[in-house]
Amino acid sequence: MIIILFLKILIKFCFQGFIMKKKDIEYFRELLTNSLEELLSKADDTVSGMTDPKENFPDPTDRASLESDRNFMLRIRDRESKLIKKIKKALERIENGTFGVCDKCGEDISIKRLKARPVTTQCIECKTKEEALEKALGL
Ligand SMILES: [Zn+2]
Repeated sequence: MIIILFLKILIKFCFQGFIMKKKDIEYFRELLTNSLEELLSKADDTVSGMTDPKENFPDPTDRASLESDRNFMLRIRDRESKLIKKIKKALERIENGTFGVCDKCGEDISIKRLKARPVTTQCIECKTKEEALEKALGL
């Protein structure tokens, strides 16, 4: 009798866990899709800004500052495109059901960590270990 009761609670617990997870996945799917769209629209702005014919200054000083602006924008774009790739990969993981699973140890990544960094592919333990190793190796 006690065992049956225990099993019932266990089943209920698992079921709730599953529901929670599905809701969380939806939350992350929306979060990632929104940030991807935002980044992509920003990337479009940067590209059109860079090819704007009005920015053809004949003055060398203006050209130099335009050049550094351009380098700055390229650096931002580089970072953005890396983030876009990471977000796309995270969305792929959502589709194939591996989102939120650490790719080093296979354990679940905590919701708290995923909320802080949805594109992460490692749990906090593995990430901490990796960072400690990188530090030790002077990377
Ligand atoms: Zn891990």
